[in-house]
Amino acid sequence: MKLILLGPPGAGKGTQAKMLTDRFRIPQIATGDILRGAVQAGTALGLQAKSFMDAGALVPDEVVIGIVRERLQQEDCSAGFILDGFPRTVAQADALQATLAGLNRRLDRVISLTVDADALVERLTGRRTCRNCGRGFHVLFDPPRQEQLCDACGGELYQRDDDREETIRKRLTVYAQQTSPLIAYYQAAGLLTELDGMQAIADVQEQVLAALQAA
Ligand code: ADP
Ligand code: AMP
Repeated sequence: MKLILLGPPGAGKGTQAKMLTDRFRIPQIATGDILRGAVQAGTALGLQAKSFMDAGALVPDEVVIGIVRERLQQEDCSAGFILDGFPRTVAQADALQATLAGLNRRLDRVISLTVDADALVERLTGRRTCRNCGRGFHVLFDPPRQEQLCDACGGELYQRDDDREETIRKRLTVYAQQTSPLIAYYQAAGLLTELDGMQAIADVQEQVLAALQAA
């Protein structure tokens, strides 16, 4: 299965992607996770990306396109993949299409999660992320069994620097301006399923699985 999860920051893409990777044994390709890993490791990529990420802006297209192009050619993507947080611009979507065509592959489905702006802010301010495996939790909506520790790997949970209200507002504006046109883009391609992301995590999961079965 070759899938894109589309939606604003906080819509639940990472939460649903983790569930899908466990279930279908295909990798989650989250450009945000890859970039945060590079920042933490202090690589040239990380140095290049950090100022954009801190400002809540998008990292330049050519940088993320290069990352994804390389990642999609790795062996573990042969049975499929879940793109989470990519594409975020029409240029990225065009580049993805070209890359997949070159590999003789096609997307099966694009699932767009719709969530109200107020709920997004509430979700992002309460999000806690595992420093080790990147899994997300929420202090109220999806609390870890043990405070500050990841259920999956025991790693330390932290609050992302960009999950503070001022940067969140900026990221939501960036989404509206640069990423939301992808809804019409994938609708026109006949690949889009829009789901109500306002429901509880388990109910969204059920809808995602139903959409994939129909794909
Ligand atoms: P995204 O990857 O789209 O930025 P996440 O999956 O990290 O979003 O979810 C953002 C926050 O909202 C996390 O703290 C997560 O635990 C929580 N969350 C995800 N889905 C839901 C949901 N359906 N209802 C309530 N909270 C949710
Ligand atoms: P995320 O973890 O998806 O919320 O992404 C965190 C940050 O990483 C974003 O605010 C951007 O600065 C950067 N980023 C992640 N994915 C992309 C992308 N596809 N294009 C540009 N920037 C990205």
